[in-house]
Amino acid sequence: MKHTDCIIAGGGFPGIYAAWRLAKSGKKVCLLEASDSLGGVMRSRQWNGYWLDNGTHNLDIRSEDAYEFYSDILQDELSILNNHDWASTTDTTYTLGFEMPDFSIDNMPLALTALSEISDLKKQTSYLSETCNQTFLEWYEASYGPSLCAAIHPILEKITGGHTHQISSAGKNTLSMLLRPKLADDSTMIRCKESSEFLNARLGVTRHCGDTRFAGDITAARFAYPAQHGLGGFCDRATVRLQELGVDLQFNSAVEAIESDSTSITVKTAQEHVSGDSLLWTLPDHLLSKITGIADTTVTKLLPVGYCIYAFEVPSAAVIGPDYLHDYSTQRLPYRYSRPGVYSQQQPNKNLTVVMAEVPAQPSDQASLMESSMLERVWEDCKTSGYIQTDCEYLDACCWNIPVAFTLPTSEWATEHARIKQQRETLHPRIAHIDAGSRGRAAFIKYFNEQLSVTLQ
Ligand SMILES: Cc1cc2nc3c(=O)[nH]c(=O)nc-3n(C[C@H](O)[C@H](O)[C@H](O)COP(=O)(O)OP(=O)(O)OC[C@H]3O[C@@H](n4cnc5c(N)ncnc54)[C@H](O)[C@@H]3O)c2cc1C
Repeated sequence: MKHTDCIIAGGGFPGIYAAWRLAKSGKKVCLLEASDSLGGVMRSRQWNGYWLDNGTHNLDIRSEDAYEFYSDILQDELSILNNHDWASTTDTTYTLGFEMPDFSIDNMPLALTALSEISDLKKQTSYLSETCNQTFLEWYEASYGPSLCAAIHPILEKITGGHTHQISSAGKNTLSMLLRPKLADDSTMIRCKESSEFLNARLGVTRHCGDTRFAGDITAARFAYPAQHGLGGFCDRATVRLQELGVDLQFNSAVEAIESDSTSITVKTAQEHVSGDSLLWTLPDHLLSKITGIADTTVTKLLPVGYCIYAFEVPSAAVIGPDYLHDYSTQRLPYRYSRPGVYSQQQPNKNLTVVMAEVPAQPSDQASLMESSMLERVWEDCKTSGYIQTDCEYLDACCWNIPVAFTLPTSEWATEHARIKQQRETLHPRIAHIDAGSRGRAAFIKYFNEQLSVTLQ
């Protein structure tokens, strides 16, 4: 049986980052991956000569840690995106440099009422009494006022694919896109944000506002993309780089059993047994409970959210939207449009490109969203959002689904989760796992460096 310092279960983004960071700090690492390649949902698919990503379309290099990581993996294949821009829309006009909902542009009366309600709340203290049993909407109303709560309700329905009422306030990290709406022009937002921490935490400014105190490092606009093969290019380079760093990458090696005590851990796959000082479990928590024999019903208390993704091949000149458009209009299906082909110059024909639309959905609703008539509906939405010229016809299209892209905790989840977590940590003190809301790429890099790296030392 081989022995290593740290075993990592799962080769998605968290597994790749953790293996790289641990190997760089001199640890012996063995990464066990069930499939024949690294990347998980980050692995792109090939279609009509394009490399299409599952939604994750850029590499955020705004933090030094992220820049160090992506440039070490991609080396000369890290393409910096110089004019990369995103936008959001609530109806017909979009706001450049802003990913959160901008209510000031299509619904000024609502925005002004909401601003006055938030300002009034500043004088009260009820927003401080947050409990895990509060639903997200109860917490939102107590923190942002009734008008904004009513306005985000249908948006929340859209983002979550329905069933919003059970979501707990503990879901706010995952729903952070709703936490800093724009309710007036940038200069008014800056004045409000300057006036108190309370308002600063609740209001947003665009990346183009020019005030680095509030737009912070986003004004630096540092994003990148692999030069080839979409994010699949990143996964391929990560495989090579991790091997260079001495990481023992085991493919086709699904973790089947774990034995652990206070001194070591043994992980079993169909091929071999690996022992280690610690294990980082990057897969969902309930699978760890199952494999370690802990009774766990938390999965039934999480709301799963999946995506249907649509890709349309179009003449490049017909795309009039930005690189990314978050669509908060409740009249339309897609949540986000993007044009990944542009990032890595993958147009097989210079006059053509591909645009993508993402529709969040409950896993049980995905079959109906994948019916061929939906392609036409999503295409119409691309046009009415202002992303594509209205007289454009697409040349080819395809769609696929991701059954569960993320989960949201319901109000009953937190208590059960805390109990299981404590039980697991007592029985298996050498197994680390990922806290809810810390799986996104930028969030995971910060979370790993601040918390997990300490546990895994
Ligand atoms: C539509 C969409 C949009 C997104 N947008 C963003 C975004 O804008 N920004 C952002 O940061 N993130 C975004 N994400 C999320 C980001 O892609 C994920 O958080 C992250 O890549 C997930 O990594 P993971 O390891 O948790 O899961 P996965 O990528 O699913 O990886 C899990 C890996 O473990 C392997 N595995 C499974 N079972 C076993 C086993 N028993 N033993 C060993 N290995 C096993 C799988 O084969 C897989 O390779 C988005 C995701 C989607 C789907």
